Amino acid sequence: MVSAPPFRQFVLKVATRCDLACDHCYVYEAADTSWRHKPRFMAEETVQRTAERIAEHAATHRLPAVTLVLHGGEPLLLGPTRMRETLKTLRYVIEDAGCAVALRIHTNGVRLSTEYCDLFREHHVQVGVSLDGDRAATDRHRRFANGASSHTQALRAVSLLRDEYPDIYAGVLCTIDVRNDPVAVYEAVRDAAPPRADFLLPHATHSDPPLRTDPGHTEYADWMLAVFDRWNAENRPFPIRSFTSVLDAFRGLPSGTESLGLSPVDLVVVEADGTLEQTDSLKAAYDGAPATGFTVAEHSFDEASGHPGFEARRHGLADLCETCRRCPIVSVCGGGLRTHRYSAPSQTTSPADPFDHPSVYCGDLKELIMGIRARTEASAVARVPAQRALGLPADVLHQLAHGYGDAKAIEHLNRFQRSLRILLLAKVFAAADGGTGPRQELVGAAIARLKTLDAGHKNALHEILGHPYTSVWALRCLDDAQSGRADPDDFAHLGSLAAATAIRAGVDAEVEVPVRQGAVYLPTLGRLVVGADAGRSVLLRISGGDCDVLGTPGWQGVRRAALPIFSGGGIAVEDTDPFRRCHHWDVAQRLPDSDAAAWLSAIPAAWDTLARDHHSYAPGIAAGLTTIVPLVPSLAGRAVSSTARRAYGAIGAGLPVVGDRAADSPASSLALLMIHEFQHAKLGAVLDMADLHDPHDTRLFEAPWRQDPRPLEGLLQGTYAHVGVTDFWRVRRFTAPDPEERAHAEAEFGLWFGHTLRATHVLAGSGSLTPLGLRFVEALRTTLEGWTSKV
Ligand code: SF4
Ligand code: SF4
Repeated sequence: MVSAPPFRQFVLKVATRCDLACDHCYVYEAADTSWRHKPRFMAEETVQRTAERIAEHAATHRLPAVTLVLHGGEPLLLGPTRMRETLKTLRYVIEDAGCAVALRIHTNGVRLSTEYCDLFREHHVQVGVSLDGDRAATDRHRRFANGASSHTQALRAVSLLRDEYPDIYAGVLCTIDVRNDPVAVYEAVRDAAPPRADFLLPHATHSDPPLRTDPGHTEYADWMLAVFDRWNAENRPFPIRSFTSVLDAFRGLPSGTESLGLSPVDLVVVEADGTLEQTDSLKAAYDGAPATGFTVAEHSFDEASGHPGFEARRHGLADLCETCRRCPIVSVCGGGLRTHRYSAPSQTTSPADPFDHPSVYCGDLKELIMGIRARTEASAVARVPAQRALGLPADVLHQLAHGYGDAKAIEHLNRFQRSLRILLLAKVFAAADGGTGPRQELVGAAIARLKTLDAGHKNALHEILGHPYTSVWALRCLDDAQSGRADPDDFAHLGSLAAATAIRAGVDAEVEVPVRQGAVYLPTLGRLVVGADAGRSVLLRISGGDCDVLGTPGWQGVRRAALPIFSGGGIAVEDTDPFRRCHHWDVAQRLPDSDAAAWLSAIPAAWDTLARDHHSYAPGIAAGLTTIVPLVPSLAGRAVSSTARRAYGAIGAGLPVVGDRAADSPASSLALLMIHEFQHAKLGAVLDMADLHDPHDTRLFEAPWRQDPRPLEGLLQGTYAHVGVTDFWRVRRFTAPDPEERAHAEAEFGLWFGHTLRATHVLAGSGSLTPLGLRFVEALRTTLEGWTSKV
């Protein structure tokens, strides 16, 4: 049986009462009232049982390390003696099972003392403190029950950590109130010199919306952007998680917080009575919202992990409402914190799932993310003015250089390729013009027909020109004409282009098309097998988008996997075009129906994996990939795939089958091939636009993933593709469905990370990259190195 993914973060409610009475507290002041029925402290037996359960969970999933956060209420109410026993039990039981423990505690700071700090230092516990900013901001909410301020105590706590115990200082958490001055709050946090900090949106739902002094305005975004601007102007003196998460998410990295992004959540809460709960913030939704019904006494963490509440935060995009799924910034926002999406079912325009809404902070999140993006792009443009030489906007180039490329970026490549093909067609016309060969009459009529169609039906012509193998054909005609070996049959293919365009345009026409290897080809549509005796050409009658050969016996139409999100409405499984034989591997012959059906179910399954888990690549693939050419599978059982530089928009692949070592299922193997090969397509299109290396350098270079050395462009291509491969495995470490597969993903990630990083060093040291090429390689290395901090 496949178990649910493991937890890696455990929040332990060691105390359930607090010495403060903050009026914005989600434990005591929110909808959930369960704290009333909990013991004041976690009993020794519960600590012991919790430690044993975590050790058992770590062993089952072979987890090398787990994170434990001691929380409350106020955990320091435990007192130093009891705290020492708790830490010892947790550490010794879990570490004895071979799993490292990263311990953290989060406190209001009131009771933080040197005695506590010495204890935390001894047990390597990192200490985080709540600090809402300057005195005015702190006093707005963070008060004792008698109304007295807690600001002095909080400042004393951060000073103690900053000045005497910096090695155990984890950072500061600040809850936003838009009535506070953002810059004053930022400066108070900065003066606490935290190693890291975060600014948290106050918990709210659609049923209990956040305070707004100016409804209709995105006050929370404005407030946070004021902080961002100050932080940026000061050269970002410490990481602020809300901002670094957005910046990371732009680069396709996991957000590192459950408040943003689509990364799965691997956190569970153990309450003081041993009950297992979902994340604390759910207390703001409704009474009992975090409860699961599981306890450490009676259930393993594996059993709890299957609870629908945990499940609902593991599937990224699929867990979100329709509005969020369609949102252009969903990969960065992720719909915000799940709690903030809640709307009580009684307000019933609501769907069955009360969390099936955008965040109550939706407008603010949009403004914040777009605001950070605009500010970051502006500084990127300032840094790299020379990159405009490519004709690509700086933000697009930035994405492509880092190995990514969203739909907008790929649209830029598509547009350039379209222009290139129009140019190629004009060149083919010129090369064919004035010929005297046996096909000249057909060619002349086809050129005239295409020019007419170009005048009145540009879109239809562009669709045919957009077919990846049209440029393979055009370049072949031009290469052969230049070398004096022009093949009249190749130029006659213009008749096929004219017929296919006329069909797409819906015009009435009679078009003579050549017979080639016993068949008539209509690019993007299919072929009619007419046999060797059919003569040299066939006259097609075309009317209203139909043609007399379509659907007749012998007609072999191109099959398509329908995927509406793709720019062409799906992916063509191209097994008829005669110019597809340009891949490194043998292409498959026309597929029997059973094999075609296997492709047509494999492609949507692979797309599901891409769309769900690989947000940095899926939109670009949907915008640019139109065609898959089936390849002959390798006899060695290896997954085969290839991209032809001249066939932008297509990739070649053997159909992955169960047992391929590429990935853990045929769908994920095909998803991996699609990422890998489309990386080649992207870089090929960039290379059509700009020189990244010296093409005259014929030396061969070490490629860490191969036995044989490679030319410079091959190494550059391989590096670019393997950035995508490394990222696939990086994500798969979290999303593969069982522990063995996640361990496999971990090993693959390490392998490809090492190979690819090494390749960037070889490229940078080659001495043959152009300045732009050097910037590309530097950007790829930055992307890779960004992943190590998350390992
Ligand atoms: S210190 Fe924390 S737990 Fe205590 S009342 Fe304030 S917000 Fe709630
Ligand atoms: S909450 Fe709003 S901004 Fe965020 S993904 Fe959903 S629709 Fe987009």
